[in-house]
Amino acid sequence: MADKQEKVIQIAGSITVDELANSLGLSVTTLIGQLFKEGIVATINQRLDYDTASIIIDELGIEGVRLEKKNSATQISEGARRELSDKAVERPPVVAVMGHVDHGKTTLLDTLLNKKTVEAEAGGITQHISAYQLEHDGRKITFLDTPGHEAFAAIRQHGAMLTDIVVIVVAADDGVKPQTIEAIKFAQGANAKIIVAINKIDREGADIPRTMADLAQHGLQPEEWGGDITMVPISAKMNQNLDKLLDMILLIADMEELKADVDIPAEGLVIESHMETGKGSVVNLLVTGGELKTGEFIVAGSTYAKVRTMVDFKGRPKGKATPSTPVTVTGFKELPNFGDKFVEVADEKAARKMALLNAQGAADATASANVTSTDLLRMMNTADNSKVFNVLIKGDVLGSVTSVVDSLKMIDTKGEITLNIVATGVGDVTENDVYMATGENTVIYGFNVTVPTNIAKMAARDNVPIRCYKVIYELLDDAKHSMEDLLDAEVIEEETGEMKVEGVFRTEKTSIIAGGEVLRGKVSSGMFAHVMRNKEEIGEVEVVSVQKEKIDVPELVEKEIGGLALKTTHKINLQIGDRLKFFTRTVKKRVLA
Ligand code: GDP
Repeated sequence: MADKQEKVIQIAGSITVDELANSLGLSVTTLIGQLFKEGIVATINQRLDYDTASIIIDELGIEGVRLEKKNSATQISEGARRELSDKAVERPPVVAVMGHVDHGKTTLLDTLLNKKTVEAEAGGITQHISAYQLEHDGRKITFLDTPGHEAFAAIRQHGAMLTDIVVIVVAADDGVKPQTIEAIKFAQGANAKIIVAINKIDREGADIPRTMADLAQHGLQPEEWGGDITMVPISAKMNQNLDKLLDMILLIADMEELKADVDIPAEGLVIESHMETGKGSVVNLLVTGGELKTGEFIVAGSTYAKVRTMVDFKGRPKGKATPSTPVTVTGFKELPNFGDKFVEVADEKAARKMALLNAQGAADATASANVTSTDLLRMMNTADNSKVFNVLIKGDVLGSVTSVVDSLKMIDTKGEITLNIVATGVGDVTENDVYMATGENTVIYGFNVTVPTNIAKMAARDNVPIRCYKVIYELLDDAKHSMEDLLDAEVIEEETGEMKVEGVFRTEKTSIIAGGEVLRGKVSSGMFAHVMRNKEEIGEVEVVSVQKEKIDVPELVEKEIGGLALKTTHKINLQIGDRLKFFTRTVKKRVLA
């Protein structure tokens, strides 16, 4: 038999209840009924966003239907991987360096690029350089440096192919670690070629074969062993074997035949953007096709620029940027978003029009949905008591804010906690941020930003936690722990014994003194007991003290007779013949996977 045909429903931004019901072949009332179950009182014309629609379809258990996001900003988002003409020319490979923290990514880039001198030249201007180029054997290689792997995930989400090759740095004295695995997954997901740099081979504990075996276990088979992954042992710190690494990068680039058209309007991606005093918007772009020149008009998302100045990663003026070249430009009216595609247009009029269209498309995509998945989750959560974790995020540049937001969203809480992003922004933490975070149990996260003393004082006064980080993983760990704190703790009850009540000596509102015989197990102070009358539980008590022949004892065991002082939360009329089923109760903090 032929495969069952899958039905595809395209959603551009949002879909009405009526449209969704029709597409699913359901009656509108069924759909509205399901929404009602999820806590949404919807009308036939209510708009649902993509995620809400998928959740509803899941909940309804409808199979053979696939939702697809129709990109409404089609004006420029199409052609992320454009077909090449036969006039396409060779371009430098775009290489990302990834790996576990402290395995030597920064050192590798520093040594390769001799970055120290470059930084000195910047003259105190904090410029977040995220892409570099170097020459090896007379050929160029573009390197990308990111605040974290999440940045790549964000770019991938925007539908673009950015990296040709991923260099995975693994310390030979430490082996494969969680972020190494993440890097491998990322590279595979992005369809990039992988080269492994086995670093720190100068170290005493370095063990190259063991590192290779470790990598092989995680799916990377070294060429030496008949696999297809090039692994180059290096020392980033001692500048050992780095030429070999670059040779290998170029070799792979040759095999991949990396090309781009140059006689098309310039296009590429926004890889960083921030404001600078005196310069306005400063935007890092990676040209992926065509040639970008100063004076040209480009559109990125809902903003556009007449490229006023263009410099290379070292800050040297550049009149023209060819494919795979990272440049920094000024001239954007407003900050474009990290991961936005940019494209050259003929003139200002065209630029303005396209930016406007994109803005409308984006507005359609978000604002027109009356019910978003966040609302839905929140509503579902109030139903089953899940918690909301409110955060406000500040970062030094848009790229880091995007990374933090995207990675926070990736923390899997199995729907038990809803992440609510109160606001995001670029720059130091401000009075307004603290104001927004007050009273809502909100944590302010700062990434690579500072908190002015007066703001810190204000936050302390208002009990608003501000937590600043420079390493994204540390921020994520913090967020994860904060979410874990919100999870209801796991309560473990363990049965310990049973007593038959043979005498009740005093019953007060919150205390009871009674005695009896331990039928099995034991009882000691601190334990709890279910009070059972004819198989039915009539209350719960806590054992305050245990006596045997009117003397306090630590415990009573099977067959012993004694007295108990019990604490209750409300009055229980304990009677002769009732049973006390003792148990211990431990409360364990729960952790997220
Ligand atoms: P990153 O977190 O991956 O960027 O790691 P770093 O580049 O910051 O390196 C972490 C530490 O390892 C630093 O103290 C480096 O000096 C050291 N390191 C990096 N590469 C090497 C190497 O090849 N040999 C030795 N001995 N130390 C290295």
